[in-house]
Amino acid sequence: MAELTNILHADLDAFFASVEQLDNPSLRGKPVVVGGSRHSRGVVSTCSYEARKFGIRSAMPAAQAYRLCPQAVFLPVNMPRYQEMSRQVFAILSRFSPIMEVLSIDEAFLDISGCSRLYGSAEEIGRLIKEQVYSELGLVISIGISYNKFLAKLASDMDKPDSLRIITESQAMEVLKPLPVSRIWGVGQKTEESLNKLGIKTIGDIQALPAGWLEARIGSAGRLFWELAHGIDQRALEPEQERKSLGREETFPEDINDTAYLEKLIAQFAAELCRKLRQAGLQTASVTIKLRYSDFKTITRSKTIYPCNSDMIVTQVAGELLHHAYNGKRPLRLFGLSLGHLSPAADLEQGNLFEPQSNADHKEIDLLMDEIRNRFGANAISRANLLPDKDTE
Ligand SMILES: [Mg+2]
Repeated sequence: MAELTNILHADLDAFFASVEQLDNPSLRGKPVVVGGSRHSRGVVSTCSYEARKFGIRSAMPAAQAYRLCPQAVFLPVNMPRYQEMSRQVFAILSRFSPIMEVLSIDEAFLDISGCSRLYGSAEEIGRLIKEQVYSELGLVISIGISYNKFLAKLASDMDKPDSLRIITESQAMEVLKPLPVSRIWGVGQKTEESLNKLGIKTIGDIQALPAGWLEARIGSAGRLFWELAHGIDQRALEPEQERKSLGREETFPEDINDTAYLEKLIAQFAAELCRKLRQAGLQTASVTIKLRYSDFKTITRSKTIYPCNSDMIVTQVAGELLHHAYNGKRPLRLFGLSLGHLSPAADLEQGNLFEPQSNADHKEIDLLMDEIRNRFGANAISRANLLPDKDTE
């Protein structure tokens, strides 16, 4: 009986740089750096494999990349073009399975359970995807296949570029054993240092521990790391249709008609929802408010916006919708805010180049606030319009 290999992770190789090399054949075979000019403070967004030979990496300051390889071709980020290519790649992926979770502009998970009747084994499906992406779009995509998300993503990265790697359940322990703990999902630099201090350097070191040992020392994350080290990952795919919108609503204990309170609620909901968007790497292109009156009559008002995940922009748009729809007279029993038309977000650096400057400024503030909340808890910081008034407290 064949082992289960139903989760596929697809990840384009050096995506932005590859698109540039595709569109401009004179760049092929050359070190290409996308993002930041050589004298700017910007960082490298993506670089070609030719540039990686010089030690250039994503997120490195562009000035440093220039010192490493002055002959590299530095290009600005052309996000609309990459988004157009990204859509075509996801369209190819979705031929193979309707269950797809888009992770970012250049990677996605596919659940290929039950696809083998149509397309053959998991390996054949991987090969077909690679062939179709290359022959139709000219891009190289790496594929990892396994029985869960963690291992599928790990597999696609193991033999990059142009990889097709399968990890079965019976191989998982051996494959994981020699890898550094930083390869475990959720282990960042700080956690890696703490684990190193406990004498744990490789995933094999965790495999050798009794189940509760790590949990007793570093808390519930220890349990998760122990499971991942053993190739156990229970996370389900979150397909696109389940995330096409994101919303928050509140039914009031007593009917209200206080527009100042509704404005505060908008700011609070916008902050929560946009934070979720940023954590998921998404942006929204539509803002909807919902009002339910005391007699249960319900209205919604929507506005399409330039894609963003900024608290301030969403707050502003929702506030305008409220003022057009509601005059503060009729009592309300419920208010809701939802964000629709979600799509993978461009990151901060990339965003700077093609979005209005104010949006980029908001993003920097939002990202900083996320970082503080992640470190110190959700209530550690808020924008001034979220702070309670004297008279409401
Ligand atoms: Mg990639």
